Amino acid sequence: MARDRRANEETNDDRDRAHGVAGDRGGPYGLATAAHARRQGIETLVLGEPMSFWRENMPAKMMLRSGPDWHMDVAGEHTMMAFLAERGVDPADVAPIPISLFLEYADWFRERAGVAVEPDLVEDLVKTNGRFEATLRSGRLGRGMPGRSWRNTRPSLDR
Ligand SMILES: Cc1cc2nc3c(=O)[nH]c(=O)nc-3n(C[C@H](O)[C@H](O)[C@H](O)COP(=O)(O)OP(=O)(O)OC[C@H]3O[C@@H](n4cnc5c(N)ncnc54)[C@H](O)[C@@H]3O)c2cc1C
Repeated sequence: MARDRRANEETNDDRDRAHGVAGDRGGPYGLATAAHARRQGIETLVLGEPMSFWRENMPAKMMLRSGPDWHMDVAGEHTMMAFLAERGVDPADVAPIPISLFLEYADWFRERAGVAVEPDLVEDLVKTNGRFEATLRSGRLGRGMPGRSWRNTRPSLDR
């Protein structure tokens, strides 16, 4: 998760390097990466179940060690603070943050950032001729390659 507002410091070279991101997962880092990529005009393919590691493997009554100044938005717009403010919640009243509230923030962030998640799992990933191909549990094929020489290649699913 990002902490505090950070300036967008990418150069044109950085943007040229990444014209497609495939295989992001639906956890906090995957969602944050996908949102940032989308903002840069880079198409993404996010697989998995949104926040499933948190939903399924952490105690339901867990309190986060992160405070409300931690969030998923590199641009500093869709922050935990913004989420709480929109709901009229004083951050002091939710410290430490319960996991249920953080999961609500994650859903809110995903919606605000326009990040869609394909509920599918990667079972195999190979690189063929400089291009990644992922075999998904559903049997579909996910394709994508971040790279300068593949700038017209976008992450996609063969349905
Ligand atoms: C008990 C506990 C408390 C924690 N508390 C905090 C905290 O307070 N603050 C904090 O910042 N961090 C905390 N962490 C750390 C935090 O959980 C991780 O850093 C974070 O979840 C990693 O996020 P991630 O994006 O890598 O994905 P993860 O959260 O690890 O999720 C993995 C995602 O990948 C998807 N996936 C899995 N397998 C596949 C597959 N084969 N194909 C496609 N998708 C797949 C899943 O559906 C899931 O959405 C805590 C961790 C634990 C265990």
